[in-house]
Amino acid sequence: MEYKRLGKSGLQVSRLSFGSWLTFGKQVGDTTAEDLMKLAYDHGVNFFDNAEAYAGGKSEEVMGDILKKMDWRRDSYIVSSKVFFGADGGKGGLMPTQKGLNRKHVTEACHQALQRLKVDYLDLYFCHRPDKQTPIEETVWSMHNLIQQGKVLYWGTSEWSAQEIMEAHRIAERYHLIGPTMEQPQYNMLVRDKVEVEYSQVYKTVGLGTTIWSPLASGVLTGKYNDGFPTDTRLGIAGLEWLKDRALAEENLEKVRNLSAFALELGVTMPLLAIAWCLKNDDVSTVILGASKTSQLEENFKAFDVMTKLEDEVMEKIEGILSNKPEHPDF
Ligand code: NDP
Repeated sequence: MEYKRLGKSGLQVSRLSFGSWLTFGKQVGDTTAEDLMKLAYDHGVNFFDNAEAYAGGKSEEVMGDILKKMDWRRDSYIVSSKVFFGADGGKGGLMPTQKGLNRKHVTEACHQALQRLKVDYLDLYFCHRPDKQTPIEETVWSMHNLIQQGKVLYWGTSEWSAQEIMEAHRIAERYHLIGPTMEQPQYNMLVRDKVEVEYSQVYKTVGLGTTIWSPLASGVLTGKYNDGFPTDTRLGIAGLEWLKDRALAEENLEKVRNLSAFALELGVTMPLLAIAWCLKNDDVSTVILGASKTSQLEENFKAFDVMTKLEDEVMEKIEGILSNKPEHPDF
């Protein structure tokens, strides 16, 4: 396993990490969840990603049970939670105080995540989306206070604009508070803008670690949807029609079909080509993998071997197939 500093912090995160969205507490049973975590840890994964909203809090409970059972040294892994969407709000649904980035919810969601994950502190705590209802200043103070209380070590954002991230830094600097360290954006062969263009200046100035999500675009970049719809996969889960429609757009499938043919020529599998391509980007601190089966994780950990095949000429050919390179504005 390779490790990389998270942004300008001194924290070394494994370049491949593991997350539990849609799997733990939902698509896979607890025994599979445990097998996946063990496999990841044994391969040197030191970052496990979670959020209050995953399976309405159940995903954190399942991960917490596994962390407790495994009894791995607490200083050997990094665990995260994210706040914004809220967890299970009970029968009446979520109350306004049970979501968002206001001081009340950020603080209570942290306490609840600690309980569900059964840990004394969160290594990383993300604002899962920007909150247009709460002044950024209130969120920065709330995160800073949690850090001062020892309940959180680093805080960051997910899917914030570069402008919002810089605003958080401006406030932090003004009041001598701890600013955000990392961002969690979607990044894969089909979605590139934020990581490749929007954050360019942020990496150079205040520094920004990136823990990127959906490297396989929810499985589409494995090529398994190229010629039909396999059963027993994420995009068949009831209630996820919105994701299915978006992910399986014909434009995406056409690209993946062409990429799959190229992967065959290269002598690599499509999932490995897609993951290695993300790893090639030096602005990516860690690629968060998702998996519903241990065989998938076993395969995906071989991505480092494929990276060596991605020489300039190969990357150019991929660029030609994708034809979606985001343009850098001329300054
Ligand atoms: P991917 O895009 O890599 O999708 C993972 C899914 O693809 C697996 O669950 C599996 O689904 C399928 N898959 C994985 N490997 C293989 C393989 N080798 N062969 C065939 N199928 C494979 O990642 P996720 O979308 O799961 O995102 C990763 C993590 O990122 C999440 O767990 C979460 O922690 C984080 N995340 C954060 C978000 C945010 O807003 N901050 C949003 C989304 C995710 P199946 O078997 O069901 O087909």
